[in-house]
Amino acid sequence: MSRDSEFIAYMRAFEASTKHVGACVACQNDQPCTTGAPIHAVFIARQDAWTKRVRAGRKQP
Ligand SMILES: [Zn+2]
Repeated sequence: MSRDSEFIAYMRAFEASTKHVGACVACQNDQPCTTGAPIHAVFIARQDAWTKRVRAGRKQP
């Protein structure tokens, strides 16, 4: 995956997670529902991948 598409995937996952939390009382209370849990898991995975990518990228010109 390219750096750009990885960032876009991260942003989409962030939006999906934020949107779900905004409409879900269980997730707002830190008790992820069965619908929200995979959405939040994807967001965390994307965030993690992006953080690693940024750290790796700092070594390049
Ligand atoms: Zn939820």
